[in-house]
Amino acid sequence: MRKHDVVIVGGGLAGLRAAIETSREVDTAIISKIHPLRSHTGAAQGGIAAALGNETPDSMEEHAFDTVKGADYLCDQDAMEILINEAPKNIYELEHMGVAFSRTPEGKIAQRAFGGHSKPRACYAADWTGHTLLHTLYEQSLRQKMTFYDEWFALSVALVNGTCAGVTALDMKTGRIEAFSAKSVIFTTGGYGRAFKITSNAAANTGDGLGMFLHAGLPLEDMEFVQFHPTGLYQHGILVTEGARGEGGYLLNDKGERFMENYAPEKMELAPRDVISRAMQTEVNEGRGIGGSDFLHIDLRHLGKEKILEKLPQIHTLALDFVGVDAITDPVPIQPTAHYSMGGLPTTIDGNVISDAKNTPVDGLFAAGECACVSVHGANRLGTNSLLDAVVYGKQAGIAARDHAKGTQFVNFPDEHLREVESDVASLLAADGKESAPKLLTNLQNAMTQLCGIYRVKEDLELCIERVKDLLERFQNIGAADKGRIFNTELIDTIQTRNILEFSEVMAVGALAREESRGAHYRTDFPKRDDKDWLKHTMAWMEDGKIRLDYKPVTITKWEPQERKY
Ligand SMILES: Cc1cc2nc3c(=O)[nH]c(=O)nc-3n(C[C@H](O)[C@H](O)[C@H](O)COP(=O)(O)OP(=O)(O)OC[C@H]3O[C@@H](n4cnc5c(N)ncnc54)[C@H](O)[C@@H]3O)c2cc1C
Repeated sequence: MRKHDVVIVGGGLAGLRAAIETSREVDTAIISKIHPLRSHTGAAQGGIAAALGNETPDSMEEHAFDTVKGADYLCDQDAMEILINEAPKNIYELEHMGVAFSRTPEGKIAQRAFGGHSKPRACYAADWTGHTLLHTLYEQSLRQKMTFYDEWFALSVALVNGTCAGVTALDMKTGRIEAFSAKSVIFTTGGYGRAFKITSNAAANTGDGLGMFLHAGLPLEDMEFVQFHPTGLYQHGILVTEGARGEGGYLLNDKGERFMENYAPEKMELAPRDVISRAMQTEVNEGRGIGGSDFLHIDLRHLGKEKILEKLPQIHTLALDFVGVDAITDPVPIQPTAHYSMGGLPTTIDGNVISDAKNTPVDGLFAAGECACVSVHGANRLGTNSLLDAVVYGKQAGIAARDHAKGTQFVNFPDEHLREVESDVASLLAADGKESAPKLLTNLQNAMTQLCGIYRVKEDLELCIERVKDLLERFQNIGAADKGRIFNTELIDTIQTRNILEFSEVMAVGALAREESRGAHYRTDFPKRDDKDWLKHTMAWMEDGKIRLDYKPVTITKWEPQERKY
């Protein structure tokens, strides 16, 4: 048994930011299934938001309003206000830690335009923002005393009478499973776009935290809200940052028209992502994809070689390497890509996980970053607000977890919990059925993309749930070719696939129940937002293999819902 005051599951931006806070005062460990520097945060390109006003005058009030409107009024406004008000301070903290932001000619932190933001407020480091943040925070973590468990795969969270006792994790190098006793546990397991066929998300974004919560009897919040980013490289889903449109890029259809004129005449290419992704899908459905196909173009040519290579060097390379197009001379083929998950592990504004719709906190259990739902993004996140969320709420959860650890004793880690987890893994290793995890996953991704994607309708969602249930059933007949314990990546794939199957059912069940259109959730059979019946958060539990739903009110402080126009 390992013992640490605080155990953080996840070594991405949220996990590292939390660790910097906890490790100053209490013994801290980070468990990460991949090396922290390979976390998906490193792929973030465009920027991190704060109303610094370095390019044009800006205010917290405007940033807050843009965020609430972007969220289609589903975010909790108390949580959102903390995010916005803390943003400038957090950016300067990051700068002082050593983050090398791009600069204005006068030497201030440069800021660019992003979708749904009324002012240029994305602070960036060319199109390597996430990479720069992650490396800086990792260096800072190395400076402070903490224990890293790299390539350890967390398997479960242990609760004793509603209090968190710790987690179990598998050392991938040896295959040994160990219990980690902790006074506070922080989940920062990141996003989970891998439920979809075309996604911008890294292979590691499989929603393991969600799977662990469902198995512990804890709820997930607002899982039906999945953001599709308009510009993924065609057939790959690899991201072309919104910064490319922030710098002035156009979206074109087969006729060479800037089709956003017909959907968001004021904001055009800088409308929020849900609006643009739907517009693109409509263009394709109506036959205006390039050459009648299922993709469109982003055109950067008019920006000129110098600007492209200075502001968007990564995009230039990615387009060359993956679709063989030089963005300086040709338009780049793109399609919407599953990108961000607004829902997740429900928490209070202190990052404390809650167990029900009445906000009852789970003692000693915290969550932050993309896996969490506090909820600052509501039904649709604005670009650059997510890195900010990981930093602000990573820190917030770190402070709360640290204070909790300082004021409490260890809870005895239940032996029977460890034995159950060991026997589950042993049975997966011994399994000799006909099904394989990659095959089940491909089927699932196809079903989720076709039936629970940008446009949704009752019949499709019912079929989707049926398919997911069928895949869960087939999972019972899984077979393991690799029976070994040492670096068994097949075993890891199998467990990740089970997690994806389970939370995907929650997504589809939540989407079927929500008979309205709001933010990223669009029902063609209920095309209007319905505040009377649906201005509420979905909470979902897995009970005896079935999904149970409940609802929680949205916190409104200043901004009453209005019609959303761009
Ligand atoms: C291509 C791309 C570009 C983006 N660009 C931007 C942008 O410009 N601006 C912006 O605001 N947002 C952007 N986002 C979103 C943003 O990057 C993410 O939401 C944010 O980085 C998530 O940080 P995180 O710390 O929560 O998760 P991650 O950085 O994904 O880290 C998750 C961690 O959890 C660990 N983990 C997961 N499961 C387990 C397990 N079972 N056991 C042990 N460890 C586990 C992983 O090892 C990893 O260390 C982008 C996202 C993508 C995909």
